[in-house]
Amino acid sequence: MPSVNAACVSVDEETIVLDQPSALIDIRGVCRSFPKGSGEQLLVLDKVDLSIRSGEIVGLLGRSGSGKSTLLRIIAGLVTPSSGSATCRGETIIGPPNGVAMVFQSFALFPWLTVLQNVELGLEALGIDATERRKRALAAIDLIGLDGFESAFPKELSGGMRQRVGFARALVVHPDLLLMDEPFSALDVLTAETLRTDLIDLWIEGRLPIKSVLMVTHNIEEAVLMCDRILVFSSNPGRVAAEIKVELPHPRNRLDPYFRQFVDNI
Ligand code: ADP
Ligand code: MG
Repeated sequence: MPSVNAACVSVDEETIVLDQPSALIDIRGVCRSFPKGSGEQLLVLDKVDLSIRSGEIVGLLGRSGSGKSTLLRIIAGLVTPSSGSATCRGETIIGPPNGVAMVFQSFALFPWLTVLQNVELGLEALGIDATERRKRALAAIDLIGLDGFESAFPKELSGGMRQRVGFARALVVHPDLLLMDEPFSALDVLTAETLRTDLIDLWIEGRLPIKSVLMVTHNIEEAVLMCDRILVFSSNPGRVAAEIKVELPHPRNRLDPYFRQFVDNI
C-alpha cells in the first residue's frame, strides 16, 4: 500500500520525493529601511527569515521599535520590503494577499463608516454580492459581541468595542492567516482582559473562523499558552534571533483550567 505524508509518496520501499508544499507565508532575507529625515536610512529589518505553515499559531516577541509592526505590514501587503522576498502561497506579496487579515494596535477603523460598513468593507475586495456581504458581516458582529451596534459610528464606541469591530472586520473574511499586532495594548487592563478572554473562549469553542495566526505580544504567558512556536526578535535592526518550539499539548488543551494550574506552577 502506498503511504502518503506531507511531501513524499512511498511506494514499496521506494520513495518518490514530490515538491515540498509551499509554506503559507515565506519571508526570505527581507530587509526594510526608512528614511530618517537627515537623508540617512534607518535599517529596521535586517535579513529576516520566517515561514508560517497553514494551521500554525506563531507568537512574535520583541522590544518596541524592533520592527514587528513593519514585518506584519509586509505580510499584509501594506509595506514592501527594500530587498528579499515575501511570498504568500508561493506568490510574491504585492498588495494585501487573499485570505490574510490584520487586527491593528490602534484599531484603524474608518471614522466616517458605521460598524456594519466597516466590517462589510473587509468583504468588498472579495467580490461577494451585497446580500451575502450583509449576512456575513452581521454574523461576525454578532459573534464578537456587538449585536445592536451595527449603525453606530466608531466615535460612539469605547476602545474595547472599537477593537471588537477591528476583530469582526478581520474575521468576516474567514482568514487563512490572522495577523494580530498587539491588539490589546491600546486598551485599559480590564477591557483588554475581557476582550482577550472572550476571544479565547470563542477559540476554544471552535467558533473563530481562522486557520493560522501570527500574533505580536508582550505577554509571555499568553504566548506560551496560545502558540505552537514563538519567535523572538532582536532590535536595531530587527531580525529573528531565537525560535522557541512549544512542545506542549495542542494550544486548545493548554487553556484547560487544570493545565493552566500546571503552567502556573512551573
Ligand atoms: P515595533 O512594532 O516593533 O514597535 P515598528 O515596526 O513599528 O516597530 O517600527 C520600527 C522602526 O521603524 C521604528 O523606529 C519606527 O519609527 C520606524 N518606522 C516604522 N514605520 C515607518 C515609516 N513609515 N516611516 C519611517 N519610519 C518608520
Ligand atoms: Mg508595533
